[in-house]
Amino acid sequence: MDIGNLLPWISGLNDDDGGRPLDWRDTRRNRVVFFTHPAGCADCSDYARDLMELRDRLSSWDGDVWLVGETADDLATPSADNVVRVTGDADRRLRQRCGLPPDEARLVIADRWGQIWQTAVADDHHVLVDPADVLETTKWIATQCPECETLDQPIGDWSSVR
Ligand SMILES: [Zn+2]
Repeated sequence: MDIGNLLPWISGLNDDDGGRPLDWRDTRRNRVVFFTHPAGCADCSDYARDLMELRDRLSSWDGDVWLVGETADDLATPSADNVVRVTGDADRRLRQRCGLPPDEARLVIADRWGQIWQTAVADDHHVLVDPADVLETTKWIATQCPECETLDQPIGDWSSVR
């Protein structure tokens, strides 16, 4: 789940919300994935709500929100819809398949091909990516040329490049 990697190809796991298969890369939509802390983390619930509130604006840039909580019920709200998908992962199988520790809270922003452009782990102060920046990143991804797309990560000291 590092920048530049692809979302892991996951099959054979069913969403516990209706048994739909989990196809992480199969939406042709840009993807904002938020793995919450285990059930009961109020800060994660607040952050998830912030992301849900962005859904119309994210959707206009081909972005979906995917929330992965302890159980789907923890995060399911009346606003869960085609743009916001909520998945329960009480047994941590999904996290395990993604190579994530069982109890970390992490945000991942990936493009429509599953390539990861931004990721952050909640620290002690529960700082993740500001929701406004989540929207900016999603906009930026949506406007990249698919033919010549490269990761725009500054590497090293460009002032020394001649
Ligand atoms: Zn949390």
